[in-house]
Amino acid sequence: MGLRLYNTLHRKLEDFTPDDKTVKLYSCGLTVQGQPHVGHMRAYIVRDVLVRWLEYLGYDVRVLENFTDIDDKIIEKQKEQKKDWRLIADDNITAYLDACRRLNIKPADYYPRASQHIEEIIALVEQLIEKGLGYEKGGDVYFRVRKFPGYGKLSNKSIDDLMSGARIAPTEHKDDPLDFALWKAAKPGEPYWLSPWGKGRPGWHIECSAMSMHYLGETFDIHMGGEDLIFPHHENEIAQSEAATEKPFARFWVHNGWVLLRGEKMAKSTGHYFLIKDLLKKYSPNMIRLYLLKTQYRTQIEFSEERLVEAQAAFARIMTFVHEYRDLKKTTNPLRLEEFTEAMNDDLNTPRALGIVFELVNQGYEKSSQDIAESVLYYLNVLGFVEEKQEKPFGPVLRVLEDVKKKIGEENKQDMLTDIKDSVFSCVANMKERDDAFEIVITVLLNIRNRMRKEKDYEFADYIRKRLSELNIHIKDKDLDTSTYRVEAT
Ligand SMILES: [Zn+2]
Repeated sequence: MGLRLYNTLHRKLEDFTPDDKTVKLYSCGLTVQGQPHVGHMRAYIVRDVLVRWLEYLGYDVRVLENFTDIDDKIIEKQKEQKKDWRLIADDNITAYLDACRRLNIKPADYYPRASQHIEEIIALVEQLIEKGLGYEKGGDVYFRVRKFPGYGKLSNKSIDDLMSGARIAPTEHKDDPLDFALWKAAKPGEPYWLSPWGKGRPGWHIECSAMSMHYLGETFDIHMGGEDLIFPHHENEIAQSEAATEKPFARFWVHNGWVLLRGEKMAKSTGHYFLIKDLLKKYSPNMIRLYLLKTQYRTQIEFSEERLVEAQAAFARIMTFVHEYRDLKKTTNPLRLEEFTEAMNDDLNTPRALGIVFELVNQGYEKSSQDIAESVLYYLNVLGFVEEKQEKPFGPVLRVLEDVKKKIGEENKQDMLTDIKDSVFSCVANMKERDDAFEIVITVLLNIRNRMRKEKDYEFADYIRKRLSELNIHIKDKDLDTSTYRVEAT
């Protein structure tokens, strides 16, 4: 079975069989009015995994991602910040590309900006007017929705559904509440371009149609974006493009689920979000990737720092196992490849694929094998994780924690295991940089040890002291609750 993807256009899983060895993919980029948050970045991590998987299957992938660098929100920001819109766009693009680099997201082949493609946009609007699907009113140009028979096919909405609640805003001049703007007349003081309809700027939807078709052709393979873009943005893109060319626009529409925060969509407009740059101060790119890929891309994720912390522990555990082996070779024949391939071919089932990786790691902890370590590394690479250089004492200390956890399990001290989890969380909550991971694990070990001392389990307490001192980490007890440690240079 080859790759199957869920195609929003037909609301079902479909075999992905492009005509050509080169897959042409367009992903809707940011409106660069501000810095990207984790909800935005999920879309690009999902794209990255899809691109990596397509390349793994032997395709070349041409990726195009736009930047919406001119629109109402950016003009708003220009007024607010008294800063040129081009500078606002530039700063936010730099921040976004920096986040992509850190998150190991493969760069797109091109990043066209709306403001650089006004000529193509005007040509497309003129084509629509010629065909009777666009009309000018007071310097604005609108798309006549009722004249495009396929309208609603992506979002599965009928004209009647759309009519309820549709209205014309006082600033708009359109004939029908369903119509949407292709071109907007400039208000005094706003940036503008000269056009056959006077001074103005493009509407949001038209830029994606113009740029995608300019670089990828009138019909291309995959169009991606967050599920919030299905309506109206992508519905309108289809209408404009197919009305102009009379050919199918994108064959596959692939949409990722939202990241929710306390049940609401993470969004700039609601002030409900975590900026990716702030998360990257606390959590490593691998943790963020692992956290997001543990959920299938179409499922919504409720954002949780606890889950991120769990991802940190899970990733450290994987890396500790892998680092047990020196001279890992690059295997071409990893264990359980068939199952892994099946999971990824099944609409990128990353939770199942990661499940295989975790099972391999568990097996590796049981019986230690180089084959397992090499297979784990192979899959991490396919999924776009970066191999972390081991910070010197961190791995061995984590290994001690693993052993202690095992011992606690054997002695059936379940509440102690819960405590370990709680103390990891509270430590991470106070953590500034992820390099503090070493300190977290030691603190957890000291907390466990202090509890043992209070319970007069001196044998266990001594065991921890001994294991740490073998790593040149020496504990000094102040009282039953407080201990300090020092690391002796080797
Ligand atoms: Zn778009």
